[in-house]
Amino acid sequence: MNAIVIDDSRATQAILTRILEDLDYEVTCAGDGRQGLQVLDRTPGIELALVDWNMPVMNGLEFVRQVRADERFASLTIVMVTTEGDVGHMVEALDAGADEYAMKPFTAQVIREKLELVAAGT
Ligand SMILES: [Mg+2]
Repeated sequence: MNAIVIDDSRATQAILTRILEDLDYEVTCAGDGRQGLQVLDRTPGIELALVDWNMPVMNGLEFVRQVRADERFASLTIVMVTTEGDVGHMVEALDAGADEYAMKPFTAQVIREKLELVAAGT
């Protein structure tokens, strides 16, 4: 299985990558939403995206909107992983087409549980 981690924090990229690799994902990282779209464009078969909200250039919400406007990525599962914890943000992300929402700071267990909820984990 192939996944992408989109976060402007290299530390968070590394932590999420480790969690996904433990679940047998092959992981590509991107530092903002635009880079994420570029990776999706050139990498067929990515099934899962873990996406930060606050990033330079293109934030996570805009990324979700652009992905959901593109039929090529209709089956991509998107989990927002963010410090934006208020209900309004959560609703906005889910309305835009995110499948699940996880709060920072997170544990590996929380991420695994979210992936089980969207049936993208093991
Ligand atoms: Mg960030």
